[in-house]
Amino acid sequence: MTKTVLFNLTDKEREEFVVKMGQPKFRAKQISEWLMRGVPDFMSMKNLPENLRKDLDSMAQTLPVRIVKKLESADGQTTKFLLELNDCERIECVLMRTSYGNSVCVSSQAGCAMGCKFCASTLLGLKRNLTINEIFAQILVAQWELRNDRMSEKAIKPNGDANNNDVSHIVIMGTGEPLQNTENVIGFMERANNEMGISWRRITVSTCGIVPGIQRLIEWGRPINLAISLHAPTDDLRKQIMPIANKYTISEIMDAAWRFTDTHNRQLMIEYILLGDSDGNLLNATPECAEKLSELVRDKNCMVNLIPWNAVDERKFTSPSGNAVHRFQDILIKNGIHTRIRRERGTDIGSACGQLRLNNQKNN
Ligand code: SAH
Repeated sequence: MTKTVLFNLTDKEREEFVVKMGQPKFRAKQISEWLMRGVPDFMSMKNLPENLRKDLDSMAQTLPVRIVKKLESADGQTTKFLLELNDCERIECVLMRTSYGNSVCVSSQAGCAMGCKFCASTLLGLKRNLTINEIFAQILVAQWELRNDRMSEKAIKPNGDANNNDVSHIVIMGTGEPLQNTENVIGFMERANNEMGISWRRITVSTCGIVPGIQRLIEWGRPINLAISLHAPTDDLRKQIMPIANKYTISEIMDAAWRFTDTHNRQLMIEYILLGDSDGNLLNATPECAEKLSELVRDKNCMVNLIPWNAVDERKFTSPSGNAVHRFQDILIKNGIHTRIRRERGTDIGSACGQLRLNNQKNN
C-alpha cells in the first residue's frame, strides 16, 4: 500500500484525513505545525496521542523525501543529505551554517539534462523535475537538523540580523537546472517566502544561462539574486565544456542577466570554475581568459565567484594550482572587478557537487 504523504495534502485534505481516522479536526493543525518544522516521523509528534502516532505511522508519511544518508563535515558546520523521493529517485541537499545565517542548497531536478563536462550531476542524464513540495521538503529537512542542533546546543549564533537558528538563506544550486523547471522553482520560492518568511534577497537562483527562463524571472518580478554559471569568456571555449552554449550565446545570456539585475538593482553573481585539461594545461583559467572575462563584466554591478573545480572521477579535468588561481584573480582585481575565491564547504564529506547521488544511484 502506498502511504499518503501528509505534506502533499492541502490543509483541508489533512483535516478530512484525520476526521476519517475518527480524530478531531484540530489534530490536522497540530500535524501541519510539525510538518513545517520538518518532522521526519510521527513518533516525534509529541503532542499527539501515542495510538494516533502509531496509526499514522502505518498509513502515512510526513514529507515526500526520506533521508538515506547524512554526512557531517569535520568542523560540524556543513551537513549534506542524500534524500530519496517516493519513486526512489535520489537527490542531494546541503545545509551550511555560516556567520551570516543558515543557508540551504537545494536541488531542482533529479539528475540534469545540461551535460556540462565538468559536473557529476548530469552524468546519468535527467530523471525528472522535482515538484514544489519536493523542493520545499529539502528546506524542512534542514530546518529539522537545525532544531536538533538547538537541542544539542551545537547551534552557532550567526552575526548580523540573522539572529535565529532557522533556515535564513536558500541557494537553488544543487542538482538540476532550475530554469528547466521554472514554474515549480517559482512556486517553491513563493512558498518559502510566504510560509517560512525567507526574504527574496536571501534566495539565489543559479542557472547555466537559459535565456527564456531568466526572462520569466524578470516578469515574475521578485528581487531575488541571480547567479550565472558562465565558466568561459568566449562562446567557442564555452561550447567545449557546456553544451547549452550551442543554444544561447554569452552575449544573449549577459543581456538577459543585466536586464534582470537592472530591474531589481541587484548584484549579479558570475560563477566561474577554474579548469585545467587532463594534461594540466590551463583551459579557461589563462590570463587571456581573465582579460576577456573582465571585458564582459567591467563597470557592471557584479561579483565573480571563482570556484576551484571539485574533482569528479568520471571527468578528465584538473584543478589549476593555487598560483594560477591567484594570477587569474589578480587580473580581475586589476581590472576593477569584484571577485572572490569560493570557500569550499564540506569538501571532506561530499567530494564534488552531485557525486554523492551519483555514487549511490550507481550502486542500486
Ligand atoms: N544548473 C545550475 C545549478 C546547479 S550547478 C547552474 O548551472 O548554475 C551549481 C554550480 O556548481 C554551478 O556553477 C556549476 O557549474 C557548479 N559545479 C558543477 N560541478 C562542479 C564541480 N565538479 N566543481 C565545482 N563546481 C561545480
